[in-house]
Amino acid sequence: MNPRKTTPFMEQYHRIKDQYPGCVLFFRMGDFYEMFYEDAKLASQELDITLTSRGKDYGKDIPLAGIPYHALEPYLSRMIHKGYKVAICEQIEDPKKAKGIVKRDVVRVVTPGTLVEENFIARQGNNYLMSLSGTKDTYGLALLDLSTGEFSATEITGQEKLLSEITRFAPAEIIYPPGFGDDEKLVKLIRETTATIQATLDPYDSQSYEYWAALNLLKKHFKVLNLDGFGLDGKLSAISAAGGALAYVTEVSKRTLTHIQTLSSFSIEDFMVLDSTTVRNLELITSILDGGKKGSLFWVLDRTVTPMGARLLKKFILQPLMDQEGIDRRLDAVEELVNDAFLRGDLTDCLKGIRDVERIISRISFGTGGARELVAFRESFKVLPKMKELLTGRKAKVLMDLEATIDPLPEIVALLERAVMDSPPATVREGGFIKDGYDQQLDEFRDAARNGKQWIASLEEKERKRTGIKNLRIKYNRVFGYFLEISTANLSLVPEDYIRKQTMANAERYITPELKEMENTILSANEKSTALEYELFTNLRELVGEKVEESQRTAHAIGTVDALLSLAIVGVENSYVRPRLTEGTRIDIRDGRHPVVEHIPDVSFVPNDTILDCRDEQIMLITGPNMAGKSTYMRQVALIVLMAQMGSFVPAGKAEIGLVDRIFTRVGAFDDLNRGQSTFMVEMLQLANILNSATPRSLIVLDEIGRGTSTFDGLSIAWAVVDYIHDRSRIGARTLFATHYHQLTEQEQLLKRVRNYHITVLDRKDDIVFLRKIEPGPADGSYGIQVAALAGLPGEVVEKSKAVLRMIEEENHITVDKLLPDRKQLQTVLFDGTVIGRVADGKHGKDSASDGGKDAQVGMGGQVGKGGQVRKDGQVGKDGQVGKGSQDGKDAMELTRTGTVQEGGEGTGVGVIPENLKKLSEELRKIDVMRITPIDALSRLYELKKLIE
Ligand code: ADP
Repeated sequence: MNPRKTTPFMEQYHRIKDQYPGCVLFFRMGDFYEMFYEDAKLASQELDITLTSRGKDYGKDIPLAGIPYHALEPYLSRMIHKGYKVAICEQIEDPKKAKGIVKRDVVRVVTPGTLVEENFIARQGNNYLMSLSGTKDTYGLALLDLSTGEFSATEITGQEKLLSEITRFAPAEIIYPPGFGDDEKLVKLIRETTATIQATLDPYDSQSYEYWAALNLLKKHFKVLNLDGFGLDGKLSAISAAGGALAYVTEVSKRTLTHIQTLSSFSIEDFMVLDSTTVRNLELITSILDGGKKGSLFWVLDRTVTPMGARLLKKFILQPLMDQEGIDRRLDAVEELVNDAFLRGDLTDCLKGIRDVERIISRISFGTGGARELVAFRESFKVLPKMKELLTGRKAKVLMDLEATIDPLPEIVALLERAVMDSPPATVREGGFIKDGYDQQLDEFRDAARNGKQWIASLEEKERKRTGIKNLRIKYNRVFGYFLEISTANLSLVPEDYIRKQTMANAERYITPELKEMENTILSANEKSTALEYELFTNLRELVGEKVEESQRTAHAIGTVDALLSLAIVGVENSYVRPRLTEGTRIDIRDGRHPVVEHIPDVSFVPNDTILDCRDEQIMLITGPNMAGKSTYMRQVALIVLMAQMGSFVPAGKAEIGLVDRIFTRVGAFDDLNRGQSTFMVEMLQLANILNSATPRSLIVLDEIGRGTSTFDGLSIAWAVVDYIHDRSRIGARTLFATHYHQLTEQEQLLKRVRNYHITVLDRKDDIVFLRKIEPGPADGSYGIQVAALAGLPGEVVEKSKAVLRMIEEENHITVDKLLPDRKQLQTVLFDGTVIGRVADGKHGKDSASDGGKDAQVGMGGQVGKGGQVRKDGQVGKDGQVGKGSQDGKDAMELTRTGTVQEGGEGTGVGVIPENLKKLSEELRKIDVMRITPIDALSRLYELKKLIE
């Protein structure tokens, strides 16, 4: 062979490999899948298999690595979970019959978002392929789960919401057309987002993203004249995204996807918006501690029996509803189940007999399901008449609808009952799973084979007698077929007509013509019956496949029953109550509990009340020492709201929930190492997002804002944030705000709808006891040193801290909170121009800044000293000043009683605003908070800050 040349075999390899760029090629050769070149090196590394070489190509060694064909699944699974795409190339003709090189072709490309294999994907979650399209204003988003047949699409306005939806659905794979979003920045942002949810992200170059092509593809697939029935009228981007998705899965799976029966449209406005931070902070699906299910809300609520139920419950949690009617309908169903213990028990028993029919149907129609899937389908559907009966005559509309939807498909069940054995083998290629009596022809083949075997048994007996060899045996193996085996000791007795075939250590093997003849009959009967069984199986599979739509609807209904039942069971066991949802803004929770913390062993949970609304009780400013229970309390409120809107009963004595459109959380300090940003930066990004996106209907939970920077920077930011949220023309949302900055409690006096609360502790000199009860009013101290002592800090450190604290306190500085007695004389001008309090000299005191506050804004938090005077730069100086962001902690946050003004005593009264502040207010006014991105917000904030500095 010319070493400079390639071989026909390698030519074939290269040709196929070139057609699948970006994929690792598993190239079938006999009993192995082989990988060559870079694929071989990669596979050897990722799969921990040996790297060798095979011959030469163009004079160079060809690196090679291989896996046995029967071990495909586990290796494939590893590759996919590491984010690779694998093209599986099979021999598509019988090698024995092949002339020259065996024909090969790729039969399927396996990618993370197109899996159907039971062992590859989590039972309790969907495995989504997400397809994106669209431009700056409107993005199209399609979701396709090949393992369940679910397919839906929507349109989204704005990047921020798009990113939220990406994390909410946590797809395994995302595709988009080249040039998507007109903006590389967006793809970069998505890449960052997908890194946290471990999704692969790749462009997919396909015409099917073009609107008309997409429309035609979808119409053809669903055999409809137009897409009106799918609710996608005029949604160009959604249709384009859906077209891309369908084209992609068809291309990679290389089959007609009959189990994708419908395309549903959804609107993200139908659901409460939950961004990734909130999903994580509230530990909705996984706990922050170890990323596992335990300790999450899902963990508490999940008593589902079937995987469909678990998947749906997860969706309930991640997609709380926004319409009161829809929520009430779910609650009616849960209530009816709560009130009927027998019904709960009986339905649970039914569900126990049901397998993952949603995915089983998909595998059957996808062609990867075998006889075992048919049996699982049959056994699951057998349970349904009973389930329907249990749901008959129920009052709740949802339960009635479910009863009507469930279709037990009796004819299919009866057919499968007649046809398939109870415990069939894993493969359908070797027969042995169709019941006797189902098919006459099959019975005949089987009889022939059975009779043949009978005949052989009697031949053995006959030959023993004829030869006098007592231990003569007739055996079978795949190489020689049937043969007679005679031990060496008896060789002298072997008759003449035996034909020797093989010599063993202690025996000789023979055949006879009549034995071979019978062998032929048996083997051909076996072969025929195996082939026939496979044919019968494919017929059955098709018949079941014809019912894919009914089966999928039924599977979904089963999941719904399961999820609702789970909520009812958990509700009963934990004494939850039915919440009352309203269109108003009042959140009134009595004796609320944290659904997860109340389960921690040895914690005797203390229930607490909550009152929030947009009119009077808008912001709860919560103080109290570390460990008092502030975070727990705030999360508990958020979780109760979320549970109510998903249609669950809630852990409380009583709960009225004015619908919330979005829950925002900024809790704790997590370094976002993926983005390589500092804790403070992440905190500010999240805060910017909240301030830009919150609406008056939102619920905001802020825990310890501003801790990542110097005390006074932090305090200043926190102060301004409260002010901003309080302002109805800015946000006006219901807010829980926990803080260490005692100075913030001052805002209750300054802002109409801020209420101070604290979590009670009992101060026992050197020790404190946490009472966990929330009470009105600010906390009376921070107890930091006591908490540190509780944590076991060395006594010496504790004592020293106390001494230092005493020293600091004695340093005669008057801090903002010490000014409380004088607060009547403090004046603040809010963002909306409302002025609270009066200026001492009365001259500038207005109840409302008539000019809408345009000129009436002052520095940090809008607060000024007693004299109502501020420095030119908007700050009040040492004697009578509010510092801002000073690193010099001692002076910066102080106001003196005299309120005299530094800088030559030139103060500027309220109403007469320094230039830079005017500029600041103008700049602020220019910002369109609904449109600004978090990053821009941050840089603007930075510029604004520079302005006042
Ligand atoms: P903080 O945010 O004030 O530092 P946390 O909310 O983290 O405090 O609460 C500290 C611990 O106190 C929690 O881990 C929990 O075990 C316990 N805890 C909080 N709230 C309650 C409560 N209402 N009843 C009983 N234990 C509670």
